[in-house]
Amino acid sequence: MKRKTLHLLPVLIATLCWAGSLIAHATDTIERNEKQDRKANTPITTQRRDNWETRQTEKQETLQMANKSTGQMENREEQQGSNKKVQQTENREAIKLARALRRKGINDARVLAAVEKVPRHLFIDEKLSPYAYDDRPLPIERGQTISQPFTVAYQTQLLKLQPGEKVLEIGTGSGYQAAILCEMDVEVYSIERYHQLYQTAKETLNKLGYHPNLYHGDGFKGLPEHAPFDKILLTAAPEEVPEKLLQQLKIGGWLVGPLGGRMGQKMTKIERVGEEKFRKTLHGDFIFVPMQEGTEK
Ligand code: SAH
Repeated sequence: MKRKTLHLLPVLIATLCWAGSLIAHATDTIERNEKQDRKANTPITTQRRDNWETRQTEKQETLQMANKSTGQMENREEQQGSNKKVQQTENREAIKLARALRRKGINDARVLAAVEKVPRHLFIDEKLSPYAYDDRPLPIERGQTISQPFTVAYQTQLLKLQPGEKVLEIGTGSGYQAAILCEMDVEVYSIERYHQLYQTAKETLNKLGYHPNLYHGDGFKGLPEHAPFDKILLTAAPEEVPEKLLQQLKIGGWLVGPLGGRMGQKMTKIERVGEEKFRKTLHGDFIFVPMQEGTEK
């Protein structure tokens, strides 16, 4: 038996060597194939690098957002230059704001998603940036205000917008509410009585990629040439609802706005249920800047 085993030993060694070389050859072939593949797939490598760069940019933008909350925002021009990127990037502060609004009773998911997307800090003076995502109104030029985010969300929710609807906003102001409306996939028309505000809002909105139909004019007159509208939104308060606006509503459409004097207003929804038939419901107390007749520079 022992002798037989000894006799077989060279055969065994030869077999092992042959198997080993086979494995080595196979490994070599795989490596070479991989090298060839890498050459052929250069775009993938480039794409990966691109992804990495995108991630880096996103990181920088997140940092920018963090700086903003500590009041170290870069100058407005630089911010506006990167508006598109800011809009595409996750805006953590806006997401937090949307969460806060949900806790306060806003439950329309599309409205909350719009709040998450619109960079409110770009609609106000850079000095106020640290407060951009607080739920409070802030002053803008000409003694006007950008509405409190809760109010913007609440009014938008009352509009119950369906994609494709035609909406008229009275009081463009900063343009923030108009941007929220654009995010709701509706056809937006907005009128502002101060030319300066109209101009600034137009620039801000367009830089962000929003293109609502903006007008410098008197909201009391509405836009008869573009009527009828599915919905009308007042973001300034008249003492009484402007009759001309009611006449520019589609039957089945409605107007949402704060009605009343300087001491405070009732959020009111007026639905046009027939040619001359309107139904009114009240939705809480608010304080808005007054709606004023005429236009100014
Ligand atoms: N929607 C605005 C809120 C601005 S405050 C925003 O998101 O920032 C209300 C605005 O209504 C002011 O800018 C004010 O100038 C404007 N306004 C007041 N009376 C108006 C009128 N008759 N026509 C158009 N705009 C008017």
